[in-house]
This record gives sequence, C-alpha cells and structure tokens, in this order.
Amino acid sequence: MSGERITILGAGLAGSLLAIYLARRGYKVEVLEARPDMRKTDISAGRSINLALANRGINALRKVGLYKAVSELLITMRGRMLHDLSAELSFQPYGKNDEEVIYSVSRGGLNELLLNTAEHDHGVIFRFEQRVMAADLPAGSVRLRDINNGREYVVDQTPIIAADGAGSIIRRQMSKLPGYQSREDYLTHAYKELTIPATDHGGHRIEAHALHIWPRGDYMLIALPNLDGSFTVTLFLARDGTPSFETLSSPESVIDFFKQQFPDALALMPDLADQFFTNPTGAMGTIYCQPWRFGGNFVLVGDAAHGVVPFHGQGMNAAFEDCYEFDRCIAVGTPVGARGWERVFAEFETRRKPNTDAIAAMALENYVEMRDSVRDTGFHLKKQLAWELEKRYPDKFVPRYSLVMFHHVPYAEAQRRGIIQQEILTQLLGNDDTMDNVDYALADKLIAERL
Ligand SMILES: Cc1cc2nc3c(=O)[nH]c(=O)nc-3n(C[C@H](O)[C@H](O)[C@H](O)COP(=O)(O)OP(=O)(O)OC[C@H]3O[C@@H](n4cnc5c(N)ncnc54)[C@H](O)[C@@H]3O)c2cc1C
Repeated sequence: MSGERITILGAGLAGSLLAIYLARRGYKVEVLEARPDMRKTDISAGRSINLALANRGINALRKVGLYKAVSELLITMRGRMLHDLSAELSFQPYGKNDEEVIYSVSRGGLNELLLNTAEHDHGVIFRFEQRVMAADLPAGSVRLRDINNGREYVVDQTPIIAADGAGSIIRRQMSKLPGYQSREDYLTHAYKELTIPATDHGGHRIEAHALHIWPRGDYMLIALPNLDGSFTVTLFLARDGTPSFETLSSPESVIDFFKQQFPDALALMPDLADQFFTNPTGAMGTIYCQPWRFGGNFVLVGDAAHGVVPFHGQGMNAAFEDCYEFDRCIAVGTPVGARGWERVFAEFETRRKPNTDAIAAMALENYVEMRDSVRDTGFHLKKQLAWELEKRYPDKFVPRYSLVMFHHVPYAEAQRRGIIQQEILTQLLGNDDTMDNVDYALADKLIAERL
C-alpha cells in the first residue's frame, strides 16, 4: 500500500471510476468537482440522461468488482428498432447471438454508484462545488474557487489527474504551451433531449429492449429506454439550414416537423413543444490533443483527452477503458515521485492515443450509418454476409461494429481490420443484391491472405 496522495479533477464517470482503481492500489485520493453532490441535490447528471454501455465499459467495471451492482441499473438493448416515415418498424439485431447486446444505463444512477463505492468502500474524499479555475503546470498546482463562498485557493498535491471533461481547464492550459497540438472539432449538427413518458403503470410505450432510431438521411431521432418506463429521446439535427434547430423556432414549426418526419414519436410526446423549448440544445465535437501530460505533474483522462461524438456510444466506454489501462500502466512498476508518474503517464498516452484517435474516427463515420445507411438494402446485405463470414471464420472475420462493442481488441485494430473486411465484402458481393452468388472459395482465400 503506497499511501501516496493523488488529486483528481472532476467526479464524473472517468474521475470517480479512476478514483476507485487508485484507492484499491492504496493511494489516498482526493477528488475536486465543480458541481454540487448529485446524491444530495436534484441536478441533472449533465449531458445525456442515459448512455449505452458496452463490453469495454463493463470490463473496466468488472475489474473493480462493480459489475453486479451496475447490472441492476441496466436495460438490455438487443438491436436497432428502425421507424420509417409511415411508422413501420423493422428490427436489426446488433450481434450474431443473444449475448451480443448493449445496455442502456442512467448516467446519474451509474455516477452515483461510482461515487458511493469510491467514498464508502475505498475512503476516497470528494469535495464538491470546488471549481478549477487555472493551473500552473510547471509548479504542479491548480487554483480553485469554492463556489459556496467565492474563496480562491491553491492545491499543489501532485500527481494531478484531469478528468474534467471535454471543456477541460487543464487541457486548455496545456494548449497554450509552445508546440502543443490541440483541436476541438465541433459538428455543424447539435442535439436536444426529449422524453417519452412511461405508461400510467410504469411500463414502456414502445419496445423496451431496443435502441430506437428514426433515420432520416441528414438527421435522426433516437430513443433509449429507462428503468422507470420512460425513454430518453435525442434529436440530432443541423444547427442551421433547412430543416434545422434554427428553423424550428415556434411550437407550430416543431409539431409540423415531427408530424411529417416522426409521426409515431410525436404521438408519444404530448408535451413535445414545451419540452423542446425548455430543454437545452447541446453541441457535439471531437477533442484531439497531444501530449496528454505535463511531466509527472498532470495527465488528462476521459473526455478531457479525447472527447468523441456520441454516435458509436463509446465515449464513456473509452473513458472507462482509460481507467483500466491506466491501472495496468501502474501495475508495470510502482511509480515513485514525479519521475515514476511521468513514466506511467507516458506509457498510458502511448497505449491509448492511437486507439482513441481510431474511435474518434469510427464515431464520426457511425453518424452516417445511423442516420442514413441503416435504411439501405446494400448495408443490410453486407451485414448479413459479415455475420455469415463470422460464422465460418469466427477467429478471423468479426464485423467492425462487433469488434468495437463486444470485444476488447484495441480500437485501432478494430478500425484496421474493419477497412480490410469492408473491402472483402465489397469484392464478394460485387453488384449483387443477394448473397446467392457469393464465392466462398474466394472468401476463404481473401480471408486467409488478408486477415
Ligand atoms: C448526447 C450524448 C450522448 C452520449 N452517449 C453515450 C453513450 O451512449 N455511450 C457512451 O459510452 N458515451 C456516451 N457519451 C459520451 C460520454 O458522456 C462521455 O464520454 C463521458 O461522460 C466522459 O466521462 P468524463 O468523466 O471524461 O467526462 P464528464 O462525464 O464530462 O465528467 C467531467 C466532470 O468534471 C467536472 N468538471 C468540469 N470542469 C470542471 C472544473 N473546472 N472544475 C472541477 N470540475 C470540473 C464536471 O462537472 C464533471 O463532473 C455521450 C455524450 C453525449 C454528449
């Protein structure tokens, strides 16, 4: 047991899970969080009320013995339920069998479980309503403001792990360093959350075990189930142009738009216009930066280092995988003092950066898949053939979506194999619109040679 102190900035998903990992190694962890304690105050948990949890996140939770408790918060989603313009439904399973599923989880419920476990089982100290204002990177200190009384003070307990999300103060401070590479690429699309209420008996009004999608080409609506019978619905739409958040400027225009584009969803949200103008419109972007660390004093984790757009449902999963990998980097040799931490931070960044770059790219591609390609018969045919090839070559050919969601191969490897597999599928299908003419001898050869 080390007894060494560690400071974490941000008690969100990454900060609170990493606190558990580090406390289990004997470190004394203090977490400083700008927001009030969500267990005591009725605050929204932040962006997105619920999230899709998949294998990578589950793996990281399992490692610290949390999966059993988390499983009580989960609703299985077995596939995509597509809603077309005439409210016809079609179901596309996510995986090749019943085990290949993802889960909907409440962000608030999950975050509270992590806070409770860290605090009660591992002695982690949380100080809420303490906002990081600035950092002195060479000195290894941060200036904080106590929101309750406005008092400012300095914390210089290094190492300092910045889990302060996509708007990270520490990353922005690092980005002022000469030669520092940092980019925040925001989409021209934004999102707004809405709710489909539960039935009077607390039931779900539409299929509970699916992620619902209303794909409409340039925009889409999705809905994820909640345990209380409600659904959290998200509209993804351009900020300006037609249609856009800009053109949906009156209750009539919103209702009209939903009547034309999402008539069955409109019928489930009687107070749509009220919700639409009460709930905020959120931005989505990808964060790229390098390095993620400053000596042995500071390191970025989770969205602070690599925020991604939400279309692969992997931001939290990647942030949880960070915690798992960070812990593995410590396990290589107990870090002592700044030099020891510098080694851990460097190793962590080396392992993670190529992979988080890969998931960033795949998440961007998945937006087109969700809002558009899922409607295309060629897309389904490729999916069918991919599953057939997986059945025949389970160790070699695994669809990219499955590699990302149900396996643990590094994201960069999933991306690399995904490109080759797409080429093989295209070559095997040619211009056919059925699988009848697939040449499996050729498949055998291509897979042996290329995968
Ligand atoms: C619409 C939407 C849907 C999403 N859906 C999914 C999904 O289905 N699956 C998935 O895996 N991911 C999803 N994500 C991504 C996921 O939300 C993030 O990747 C995840 O929250 C990252 O965790 P984090 O702890 O790094 O950051 P955050 O969760 O943002 O936590 C950062 C914490 O730092 C605190 N903080 C910020 N600034 C300061 C400061 N100056 N001082 C002190 N504290 C500070 C914040 O209050 C917060 O508590 C989605 C994101 C969005 C926007």
